[in-house]
Amino acid sequence: MIQKEAERIFETRELNVNMGPQHPATHGVLRLVLDIDGETIVKVTPYVGYLHRGIEKLGENLSYFQALPLTDRMDYVSAMSNNIGYCVAVEKLFGIDPPMRAKFIRTIVGEMSRIANHLLWLATHALDIGAMTVFLYCFREREWILDLFEMICGARLTVTYPRVGGVRNDVPQAFLDSLWKFTEEFPSRILEYETLIDQNRIWLQRTVGIGVISAEEAVNWGMTGPTLRGSGVPYDVRKHMPYDAYDQVEFDVPIGTAGDTYDRYRCRMLEMRQSNSIIRQCIEKLPPGPVMADDPKFVLPPKDKMLPITQPTDMAYFIIEKACKGCGMCLRACPAKAISGEKKKAHKIDQSQCLQCSTCFTTCKFKALTVVPGGKGLSDEKLAELAVAPDKLPDDIKEAQQNLTRQFDFIKKGPKVPEGEIYVATEVPKGELGFYFVSDGSGKPYRMRVRAPSFVHAGCLPRLCVGHLVADVIAAIGTIDIVLGECDR
Ligand code: SF4
Ligand code: SF4
Repeated sequence: MIQKEAERIFETRELNVNMGPQHPATHGVLRLVLDIDGETIVKVTPYVGYLHRGIEKLGENLSYFQALPLTDRMDYVSAMSNNIGYCVAVEKLFGIDPPMRAKFIRTIVGEMSRIANHLLWLATHALDIGAMTVFLYCFREREWILDLFEMICGARLTVTYPRVGGVRNDVPQAFLDSLWKFTEEFPSRILEYETLIDQNRIWLQRTVGIGVISAEEAVNWGMTGPTLRGSGVPYDVRKHMPYDAYDQVEFDVPIGTAGDTYDRYRCRMLEMRQSNSIIRQCIEKLPPGPVMADDPKFVLPPKDKMLPITQPTDMAYFIIEKACKGCGMCLRACPAKAISGEKKKAHKIDQSQCLQCSTCFTTCKFKALTVVPGGKGLSDEKLAELAVAPDKLPDDIKEAQQNLTRQFDFIKKGPKVPEGEIYVATEVPKGELGFYFVSDGSGKPYRMRVRAPSFVHAGCLPRLCVGHLVADVIAAIGTIDIVLGECDR
Protein backbone atom coordinates (compact mmCIF):
# COMPACT_ATOMS: atom_id res chain seq x y z
CA MET A 1 0.00 0.00 0.00
CA ILE A 2 2.81 2.37 0.97
CA GLN A 3 4.69 1.41 -2.18
CA LYS A 4 1.64 2.08 -4.38
CA GLU A 5 1.20 5.47 -2.77
CA ALA A 6 4.89 6.26 -3.36
CA GLU A 7 4.58 5.26 -7.03
CA ARG A 8 1.57 7.52 -7.40
CA ILE A 9 3.37 10.47 -5.81
CA PHE A 10 6.62 10.04 -7.76
CA GLU A 11 5.00 8.94 -11.02
CA THR A 12 6.56 10.65 -14.07
CA ARG A 13 4.67 11.27 -17.28
CA GLU A 14 5.34 13.13 -20.48
CA LEU A 15 4.32 16.75 -20.63
CA ASN A 16 3.08 18.56 -23.71
CA VAL A 17 4.56 22.08 -23.91
CA ASN A 18 4.16 24.86 -26.48
CA MET A 19 7.27 26.81 -27.47
CA GLY A 20 6.33 29.78 -29.65
CA PRO A 21 4.84 31.16 -31.86
CA GLN A 22 5.71 34.25 -29.79
CA HIS A 23 9.05 33.31 -28.33
CA PRO A 24 12.21 35.41 -28.76
CA ALA A 25 14.36 32.37 -29.55
CA THR A 26 12.15 30.83 -32.25
CA HIS A 27 13.33 33.48 -34.72
CA GLY A 28 9.89 34.52 -35.88
CA VAL A 29 6.49 32.94 -35.61
CA LEU A 30 7.53 29.30 -35.32
CA ARG A 31 5.54 27.13 -32.94
CA LEU A 32 7.05 23.94 -31.61
CA VAL A 33 4.95 21.47 -29.66
CA LEU A 34 7.36 19.62 -27.38
CA ASP A 35 6.67 16.32 -25.65
CA ILE A 36 9.09 16.27 -22.70
CA ASP A 37 10.02 13.66 -20.17
CA GLY A 38 11.44 15.77 -17.36
CA GLU A 39 13.95 17.96 -19.20
CA THR A 40 14.44 15.52 -22.07
CA ILE A 41 12.81 16.03 -25.46
CA VAL A 42 10.77 13.00 -26.56
CA LYS A 43 9.01 14.47 -29.58
CA VAL A 44 8.98 17.79 -31.47
CA THR A 45 6.24 18.89 -33.85
CA PRO A 46 7.00 22.14 -35.72
CA TYR A 47 4.09 24.29 -36.91
CA VAL A 48 4.57 27.03 -39.48
CA GLY A 49 2.00 29.06 -41.39
CA TYR A 50 1.24 31.94 -39.06
CA LEU A 51 2.40 34.62 -41.48
CA HIS A 52 -0.13 34.14 -44.30
CA ARG A 53 2.22 35.56 -46.94
CA GLY A 54 0.87 33.87 -50.08
CA ILE A 55 3.91 35.02 -52.06
CA GLU A 56 3.75 32.13 -54.55
CA LYS A 57 0.08 32.77 -55.34
CA LEU A 58 0.61 36.52 -55.55
CA GLY A 59 3.50 35.86 -57.97
CA GLU A 60 1.11 34.01 -60.31
CA ASN A 61 -1.09 37.10 -60.55
CA LEU A 62 1.71 39.56 -61.25
CA SER A 63 4.03 39.96 -64.22
CA TYR A 64 7.59 38.60 -63.89
CA PHE A 65 8.81 42.15 -63.22
CA GLN A 66 6.16 42.98 -60.63
CA ALA A 67 6.84 39.89 -58.51
CA LEU A 68 10.50 40.74 -57.84
CA PRO A 69 9.90 42.91 -54.71
CA LEU A 70 7.94 40.04 -53.14
CA THR A 71 11.15 38.04 -52.94
CA ASP A 72 12.71 40.64 -50.61
CA ARG A 73 10.01 39.76 -48.11
CA MET A 74 10.75 36.02 -48.04
CA ASP A 75 14.10 35.89 -46.23
CA TYR A 76 14.28 39.57 -45.29
CA VAL A 77 17.66 38.97 -43.62
CA SER A 78 19.24 38.32 -47.02
CA ALA A 79 16.86 40.02 -49.44
CA MET A 80 19.67 40.71 -51.92
CA SER A 81 20.33 36.97 -52.34
CA ASN A 82 16.62 36.25 -52.87
CA ASN A 83 16.45 38.95 -55.56
CA ILE A 84 19.46 37.42 -57.30
CA GLY A 85 17.93 33.93 -57.14
CA TYR A 86 14.68 35.20 -58.67
CA CYS A 87 16.43 37.20 -61.41
CA VAL A 88 18.73 34.31 -62.38
CA ALA A 89 15.70 32.00 -62.68
CA VAL A 90 13.62 34.46 -64.74
CA GLU A 91 16.62 35.22 -66.98
CA LYS A 92 17.02 31.48 -67.69
CA LEU A 93 13.32 31.28 -68.55
CA PHE A 94 13.54 34.33 -70.84
CA GLY A 95 16.82 33.09 -72.33
CA ILE A 96 18.74 36.31 -71.68
CA ASP A 97 22.24 36.85 -70.33
CA PRO A 98 23.17 39.91 -68.22
CA PRO A 99 26.37 41.79 -69.10
CA MET A 100 29.60 40.76 -67.36
CA ARG A 101 29.79 43.87 -65.16
CA ALA A 102 26.29 43.19 -63.83
CA LYS A 103 27.26 39.59 -63.08
CA PHE A 104 30.28 40.72 -61.06
CA ILE A 105 28.25 43.34 -59.19
CA ARG A 106 25.60 40.73 -58.35
CA THR A 107 28.30 38.37 -57.10
CA ILE A 108 29.67 41.16 -54.89
CA VAL A 109 26.31 42.12 -53.38
CA GLY A 110 25.35 38.44 -53.04
CA GLU A 111 28.44 37.76 -50.95
CA MET A 112 27.88 40.93 -48.91
CA SER A 113 24.41 39.59 -48.23
CA ARG A 114 25.92 36.25 -47.14
CA ILE A 115 28.21 38.01 -44.68
CA ALA A 116 25.35 40.18 -43.35
CA ASN A 117 23.18 37.06 -42.96
CA HIS A 118 25.87 35.08 -41.14
CA LEU A 119 26.58 38.07 -38.88
CA LEU A 120 22.93 38.27 -37.85
CA TRP A 121 22.86 34.49 -37.43
CA LEU A 122 25.97 34.53 -35.22
CA ALA A 123 24.70 37.51 -33.22
CA THR A 124 21.33 35.93 -32.42
CA HIS A 125 22.63 32.36 -32.06
CA ALA A 126 25.22 33.55 -29.54
CA LEU A 127 22.62 35.66 -27.74
CA ASP A 128 20.24 32.69 -27.51
CA ILE A 129 23.01 30.63 -25.97
CA GLY A 130 23.97 33.44 -23.58
CA ALA A 131 26.80 35.47 -25.17
CA MET A 132 25.89 39.17 -25.33
CA THR A 133 29.12 40.81 -26.55
CA VAL A 134 29.26 38.91 -29.85
CA PHE A 135 25.79 40.20 -30.62
CA LEU A 136 26.96 43.82 -30.40
CA TYR A 137 30.18 43.18 -32.36
CA CYS A 138 28.30 41.47 -35.22
CA PHE A 139 25.78 44.29 -35.53
CA ARG A 140 28.66 46.76 -35.84
CA GLU A 141 29.92 45.09 -39.05
CA ARG A 142 26.42 44.34 -40.36
CA GLU A 143 25.59 48.04 -40.14
CA TRP A 144 28.57 48.78 -42.39
CA ILE A 145 27.22 46.39 -45.05
CA LEU A 146 23.70 47.80 -44.80
CA ASP A 147 25.09 51.34 -45.19
CA LEU A 148 26.81 50.16 -48.38
CA PHE A 149 23.54 48.71 -49.67
CA GLU A 150 21.93 52.06 -48.96
CA MET A 151 24.65 53.74 -51.00
CA ILE A 152 23.81 51.74 -54.15
CA CYS A 153 20.03 51.53 -53.98
CA GLY A 154 18.72 53.71 -51.16
CA ALA A 155 17.40 50.75 -49.16
CA ARG A 156 18.99 48.70 -46.39
CA LEU A 157 16.74 45.70 -45.93
CA THR A 158 14.28 45.22 -48.80
CA VAL A 159 16.62 46.29 -51.56
CA THR A 160 15.23 45.10 -54.95
CA TYR A 161 18.58 46.13 -56.46
CA PRO A 162 19.24 43.18 -58.80
CA ARG A 163 16.88 43.28 -61.79
CA VAL A 164 15.90 40.83 -64.49
CA GLY A 165 18.73 41.34 -67.01
CA GLY A 166 21.28 42.93 -64.64
CA VAL A 167 21.14 45.43 -61.81
CA ARG A 168 19.14 48.63 -61.25
CA ASN A 169 22.14 50.97 -61.64
CA ASP A 170 25.93 50.92 -61.66
CA VAL A 171 27.83 51.15 -58.35
CA PRO A 172 29.61 54.42 -57.49
CA GLN A 173 33.38 54.46 -56.91
CA ALA A 174 32.80 55.52 -53.27
CA PHE A 175 30.95 52.23 -52.75
CA LEU A 176 33.86 50.19 -54.10
CA ASP A 177 36.37 52.16 -51.98
CA SER A 178 34.40 51.69 -48.77
CA LEU A 179 33.78 48.00 -49.55
CA TRP A 180 37.51 47.45 -50.17
CA LYS A 181 38.22 48.99 -46.77
CA PHE A 182 35.62 46.69 -45.25
CA THR A 183 37.27 43.62 -46.77
CA GLU A 184 40.63 44.73 -45.35
CA GLU A 185 39.26 45.06 -41.83
CA PHE A 186 36.73 42.25 -41.75
CA PRO A 187 39.14 39.26 -41.27
CA SER A 188 40.42 40.82 -38.03
CA ARG A 189 36.80 41.31 -36.88
CA ILE A 190 36.07 37.61 -37.47
CA LEU A 191 39.09 36.84 -35.30
CA GLU A 192 37.54 39.00 -32.58
CA TYR A 193 34.33 36.96 -32.58
CA GLU A 194 36.31 33.74 -32.55
CA THR A 195 38.43 34.93 -29.64
CA LEU A 196 35.24 35.45 -27.67
CA ILE A 197 33.50 32.14 -28.33
CA ASP A 198 35.60 29.64 -30.30
CA GLN A 199 37.11 27.96 -27.23
CA ASN A 200 34.68 29.35 -24.66
CA ARG A 201 33.75 26.55 -22.23
CA ILE A 202 30.05 27.42 -22.15
CA TRP A 203 29.89 27.75 -25.96
CA LEU A 204 31.57 24.35 -26.39
CA GLN A 205 29.24 22.68 -23.89
CA ARG A 206 26.18 24.14 -25.60
CA THR A 207 27.22 23.26 -29.17
CA VAL A 208 29.60 20.26 -29.31
CA GLY A 209 27.68 17.00 -29.78
CA ILE A 210 24.32 18.84 -29.95
CA GLY A 211 22.02 18.21 -32.91
CA VAL A 212 24.34 15.70 -34.58
CA ILE A 213 23.27 14.53 -38.01
CA SER A 214 25.25 12.28 -40.33
CA ALA A 215 26.05 13.19 -43.94
CA GLU A 216 23.70 10.52 -45.29
CA GLU A 217 20.82 11.59 -43.07
CA ALA A 218 21.38 15.27 -43.83
CA VAL A 219 21.12 14.54 -47.56
CA ASN A 220 17.99 12.44 -47.02
CA TRP A 221 16.36 15.24 -45.04
CA GLY A 222 17.01 17.63 -47.95
CA MET A 223 19.40 19.86 -46.02
CA THR A 224 21.50 22.31 -48.01
CA GLY A 225 23.91 25.19 -47.37
CA PRO A 226 26.09 25.31 -44.25
CA THR A 227 23.51 23.16 -42.43
CA LEU A 228 24.39 20.32 -44.83
CA ARG A 229 28.08 21.15 -45.18
CA GLY A 230 28.54 20.93 -41.40
CA SER A 231 27.95 17.18 -41.85
CA GLY A 232 30.79 16.93 -44.35
CA VAL A 233 28.90 17.10 -47.69
CA PRO A 234 30.69 19.61 -49.97
CA TYR A 235 27.57 20.56 -51.97
CA ASP A 236 27.43 24.22 -52.95
CA VAL A 237 25.34 25.49 -55.89
CA ARG A 238 27.97 28.17 -56.58
CA LYS A 239 30.47 25.38 -57.38
CA HIS A 240 28.18 22.75 -58.90
CA MET A 241 26.00 24.99 -61.09
CA PRO A 242 27.85 28.34 -61.21
CA TYR A 243 25.79 31.43 -62.03
CA ASP A 244 26.71 35.13 -62.26
CA ALA A 245 30.53 35.43 -61.85
CA TYR A 246 31.19 32.44 -59.57
CA ASP A 247 33.06 30.62 -62.34
CA GLN A 248 35.48 33.59 -62.50
CA VAL A 249 36.62 33.50 -58.87
CA GLU A 250 38.55 31.11 -56.64
CA PHE A 251 36.99 29.97 -53.39
CA ASP A 252 36.80 26.94 -51.10
CA VAL A 253 33.70 25.25 -49.72
CA PRO A 254 34.28 24.72 -45.97
CA ILE A 255 32.87 21.50 -44.53
CA GLY A 256 32.60 19.98 -41.06
CA THR A 257 33.21 16.44 -39.85
CA ALA A 258 31.02 15.79 -36.81
CA GLY A 259 27.74 17.27 -38.16
CA ASP A 260 26.96 18.94 -34.83
CA THR A 261 26.01 22.51 -33.90
CA TYR A 262 29.68 23.44 -33.39
CA ASP A 263 30.69 22.25 -36.89
CA ARG A 264 27.88 24.19 -38.49
CA TYR A 265 29.09 27.25 -36.56
CA ARG A 266 32.66 26.71 -37.84
CA CYS A 267 31.41 26.30 -41.44
CA ARG A 268 29.65 29.66 -41.35
CA MET A 269 32.68 31.39 -39.84
CA LEU A 270 34.92 30.01 -42.61
CA GLU A 271 32.31 30.91 -45.22
CA MET A 272 32.45 34.55 -44.17
CA ARG A 273 36.21 34.51 -44.87
CA GLN A 274 35.57 32.96 -48.30
CA SER A 275 32.90 35.58 -49.07
CA ASN A 276 35.35 38.31 -48.10
CA SER A 277 37.90 36.86 -50.53
CA ILE A 278 35.30 36.53 -53.35
CA ILE A 279 34.33 40.20 -52.92
CA ARG A 280 38.00 41.29 -53.16
CA GLN A 281 38.54 39.21 -56.32
CA CYS A 282 35.38 40.64 -57.91
CA ILE A 283 36.42 44.24 -57.16
CA GLU A 284 39.83 43.58 -58.71
CA LYS A 285 38.33 41.94 -61.81
CA LEU A 286 35.28 44.20 -62.19
CA PRO A 287 35.04 44.85 -65.95
CA PRO A 288 33.72 48.12 -67.44
CA GLY A 289 30.53 48.17 -69.48
CA PRO A 290 26.75 48.28 -69.16
CA VAL A 291 24.89 46.81 -66.19
CA MET A 292 21.72 45.83 -67.99
CA ALA A 293 21.18 43.40 -70.86
CA ASP A 294 20.28 45.03 -74.17
CA ASP A 295 17.24 43.02 -75.23
CA PRO A 296 14.14 45.16 -75.85
CA LYS A 297 11.96 42.02 -76.00
CA PHE A 298 12.60 41.11 -72.36
CA VAL A 299 14.31 43.97 -70.55
CA LEU A 300 12.75 47.18 -69.27
CA PRO A 301 13.92 50.29 -71.14
CA PRO A 302 16.56 52.42 -69.37
CA LYS A 303 15.10 55.17 -67.19
CA ASP A 304 17.22 57.91 -68.81
CA LYS A 305 15.72 57.06 -72.21
CA MET A 306 12.14 57.31 -71.07
CA LEU A 307 9.73 60.22 -70.56
CA PRO A 308 10.18 62.49 -68.65
CA ILE A 309 13.74 62.48 -69.96
CA THR A 310 15.24 65.11 -67.67
CA GLN A 311 14.80 65.44 -63.93
CA PRO A 312 13.65 68.08 -63.16
CA THR A 313 12.20 68.37 -66.63
CA ASP A 314 11.61 71.63 -68.50
CA MET A 315 8.79 70.17 -70.56
CA ALA A 316 5.14 71.13 -70.47
CA TYR A 317 2.34 68.65 -71.18
CA PHE A 318 -0.31 70.22 -73.40
CA ILE A 319 -3.63 69.26 -75.02
CA ILE A 320 -4.07 70.48 -78.63
CA GLU A 321 -7.58 71.89 -78.59
CA LYS A 322 -8.44 71.09 -82.21
CA ALA A 323 -7.37 67.46 -81.95
CA CYS A 324 -9.01 66.68 -78.58
CA LYS A 325 -12.19 64.59 -78.86
CA GLY A 326 -13.08 65.03 -75.20
CA CYS A 327 -13.10 61.28 -74.51
CA GLY A 328 -11.95 61.84 -70.92
CA MET A 329 -9.34 59.01 -70.92
CA CYS A 330 -6.53 61.34 -69.85
CA LEU A 331 -8.72 62.95 -67.18
CA ARG A 332 -9.40 59.58 -65.58
CA ALA A 333 -5.75 58.53 -65.80
CA CYS A 334 -4.19 61.69 -64.35
CA PRO A 335 -3.01 60.95 -60.78
CA ALA A 336 -2.74 64.67 -59.94
CA LYS A 337 -6.26 65.62 -61.10
CA ALA A 338 -4.57 68.28 -63.22
CA ILE A 339 -6.87 67.71 -66.24
CA SER A 340 -10.36 69.14 -66.50
CA GLY A 341 -13.03 69.27 -69.19
CA GLU A 342 -16.49 68.14 -70.18
CA LYS A 343 -17.38 65.14 -72.30
CA LYS A 344 -16.97 65.68 -76.06
CA LYS A 345 -15.32 69.06 -75.42
CA ALA A 346 -11.62 69.90 -75.47
CA HIS A 347 -9.87 69.22 -72.17
CA LYS A 348 -7.24 71.37 -70.47
CA ILE A 349 -4.19 70.75 -68.28
CA ASP A 350 -3.61 72.93 -65.23
CA GLN A 351 0.18 73.36 -65.55
CA SER A 352 0.55 74.35 -61.90
CA GLN A 353 -0.82 70.96 -60.79
CA CYS A 354 0.87 68.77 -63.39
CA LEU A 355 3.41 66.30 -61.91
CA GLN A 356 4.88 65.55 -65.34
CA CYS A 357 4.33 61.84 -64.89
CA SER A 358 3.55 61.31 -68.62
CA THR A 359 0.56 59.07 -67.91
CA CYS A 360 -1.79 61.20 -70.04
CA PHE A 361 0.72 61.28 -72.88
CA THR A 362 0.63 57.49 -73.16
CA THR A 363 -3.15 57.36 -72.71
CA CYS A 364 -4.43 59.61 -75.51
CA LYS A 365 -5.28 57.66 -78.65
CA PHE A 366 -6.17 60.75 -80.71
CA LYS A 367 -2.72 62.38 -80.87
CA ALA A 368 -4.15 65.38 -78.97
CA LEU A 369 -1.72 65.20 -76.09
CA THR A 370 1.77 66.42 -76.70
CA VAL A 371 4.80 67.77 -74.89
CA VAL A 372 6.42 71.14 -75.42
CA PRO A 373 10.17 70.98 -74.70
CA GLY A 374 11.22 74.09 -72.76
CA GLY A 375 7.55 74.98 -72.23
CA LYS A 376 7.50 74.82 -68.45
CA GLY A 377 6.11 78.01 -66.95
CA LEU A 378 4.72 79.36 -70.25
CA SER A 379 1.10 80.49 -70.64
CA ASP A 380 -1.48 78.30 -72.42
CA GLU A 381 -1.55 80.75 -75.35
CA LYS A 382 2.22 80.50 -75.80
CA LEU A 383 2.10 76.72 -75.50
CA ALA A 384 -0.63 76.56 -78.15
CA GLU A 385 1.72 78.44 -80.48
CA LEU A 386 4.67 76.12 -79.84
CA ALA A 387 2.85 72.76 -79.64
CA VAL A 388 3.20 70.23 -82.44
CA ALA A 389 1.37 66.91 -82.90
CA PRO A 390 3.07 63.99 -81.11
CA ASP A 391 4.13 62.33 -84.38
CA LYS A 392 6.00 65.54 -85.34
CA LEU A 393 8.02 65.67 -82.12
CA PRO A 394 11.83 65.18 -82.27
CA ASP A 395 12.96 61.53 -82.57
CA ASP A 396 14.46 61.32 -79.07
CA ILE A 397 11.16 62.40 -77.48
CA LYS A 398 9.18 59.96 -79.67
CA GLU A 399 11.54 57.15 -78.66
CA ALA A 400 11.25 58.18 -75.00
CA GLN A 401 7.46 58.08 -75.28
CA GLN A 402 7.56 54.62 -76.91
CA ASN A 403 9.87 53.42 -74.15
CA LEU A 404 7.47 54.69 -71.52
CA THR A 405 4.55 52.90 -73.17
CA ARG A 406 6.66 49.73 -73.39
CA GLN A 407 7.53 50.03 -69.70
CA PHE A 408 3.79 50.32 -68.83
CA ASP A 409 3.00 47.21 -70.87
CA PHE A 410 5.95 45.23 -69.51
CA ILE A 411 5.18 45.99 -65.90
CA LYS A 412 1.45 45.35 -66.18
CA LYS A 413 1.25 42.51 -68.69
CA GLY A 414 4.83 41.23 -68.81
CA PRO A 415 6.73 40.25 -71.96
CA LYS A 416 5.88 37.28 -74.18
CA VAL A 417 7.74 34.41 -72.56
CA PRO A 418 8.59 31.01 -74.11
CA GLU A 419 6.26 28.23 -72.95
CA GLY A 420 7.65 25.52 -70.70
CA GLU A 421 8.83 24.90 -67.17
CA ILE A 422 12.08 25.59 -65.40
CA TYR A 423 13.73 25.07 -62.00
CA VAL A 424 16.76 27.22 -61.21
CA ALA A 425 18.70 27.11 -57.94
CA THR A 426 21.13 29.56 -56.36
CA GLU A 427 23.18 29.34 -53.17
CA VAL A 428 21.73 31.81 -50.68
CA PRO A 429 23.23 32.09 -47.16
CA LYS A 430 20.77 29.55 -45.73
CA GLY A 431 21.15 26.94 -48.49
CA GLU A 432 19.65 26.17 -51.88
CA LEU A 433 16.97 28.63 -52.95
CA GLY A 434 15.14 27.34 -56.00
CA PHE A 435 12.49 28.97 -58.18
CA TYR A 436 10.22 26.76 -60.26
CA PHE A 437 8.16 28.40 -62.99
CA VAL A 438 5.58 26.98 -65.35
CA SER A 439 5.10 29.36 -68.26
CA ASP A 440 2.01 29.29 -70.50
CA GLY A 441 3.55 31.87 -72.82
CA SER A 442 1.95 34.89 -71.14
CA GLY A 443 3.73 37.59 -69.14
CA LYS A 444 2.76 36.04 -65.80
CA PRO A 445 3.86 32.63 -64.48
CA TYR A 446 1.12 29.99 -64.69
CA ARG A 447 2.71 28.43 -61.60
CA MET A 448 5.40 29.79 -59.32
CA ARG A 449 6.90 27.63 -56.60
CA VAL A 450 9.78 28.44 -54.28
CA ARG A 451 12.10 25.86 -52.73
CA ALA A 452 13.03 27.74 -49.57
CA PRO A 453 15.86 26.32 -47.42
CA SER A 454 14.29 27.53 -44.15
CA PHE A 455 11.13 25.50 -44.82
CA VAL A 456 13.11 22.30 -45.40
CA HIS A 457 15.35 22.91 -42.40
CA ALA A 458 12.41 23.64 -40.08
CA GLY A 459 11.18 20.14 -40.93
CA CYS A 460 14.48 18.68 -39.65
CA LEU A 461 14.04 20.13 -36.15
CA PRO A 462 12.51 16.93 -34.63
CA ARG A 463 15.50 14.96 -35.90
CA LEU A 464 17.95 17.41 -34.29
CA CYS A 465 16.18 17.85 -30.95
CA VAL A 466 14.91 14.44 -29.79
CA GLY A 467 17.03 13.05 -26.94
CA HIS A 468 18.43 16.45 -25.99
CA LEU A 469 17.37 18.85 -23.22
CA VAL A 470 14.80 21.63 -23.55
CA ALA A 471 17.56 24.27 -23.56
CA ASP A 472 19.13 22.53 -26.58
CA VAL A 473 16.05 23.26 -28.70
CA ILE A 474 17.23 26.88 -28.75
CA ALA A 475 20.66 25.81 -30.02
CA ALA A 476 19.02 23.55 -32.64
CA ILE A 477 16.80 26.36 -33.97
CA GLY A 478 19.83 28.66 -34.14
CA THR A 479 22.05 26.13 -35.88
CA ILE A 480 19.69 25.64 -38.85
CA ASP A 481 19.35 29.44 -39.27
CA ILE A 482 15.71 29.74 -40.30
CA VAL A 483 13.59 32.76 -41.14
CA LEU A 484 9.86 32.19 -41.00
CA GLY A 485 9.09 34.72 -43.74
CA GLU A 486 10.65 32.19 -46.09
CA CYS A 487 8.79 29.20 -44.63
CA ASP A 488 5.38 30.83 -45.09
CA ARG A 489 5.48 31.68 -48.75
S1 SF4 B 1 -7.42 61.45 -74.06
FE1 SF4 B 1 -6.89 62.77 -75.76
S2 SF4 B 1 -8.81 63.05 -76.85
FE2 SF4 B 1 -9.35 62.21 -74.87
S3 SF4 B 1 -9.80 64.01 -73.62
FE3 SF4 B 1 -7.65 63.53 -73.31
S4 SF4 B 1 -6.55 64.76 -74.81
FE4 SF4 B 1 -8.69 64.74 -75.42
S1 SF4 C 1 1.67 64.53 -67.03
FE1 SF4 C 1 0.72 63.35 -65.38
S2 SF4 C 1 0.18 64.87 -63.85
FE2 SF4 C 1 0.55 66.00 -65.75
S3 SF4 C 1 -1.45 66.18 -66.67
FE3 SF4 C 1 -0.51 64.34 -67.53
S4 SF4 C 1 -1.22 62.67 -66.21
FE4 SF4 C 1 -1.62 64.59 -65.12
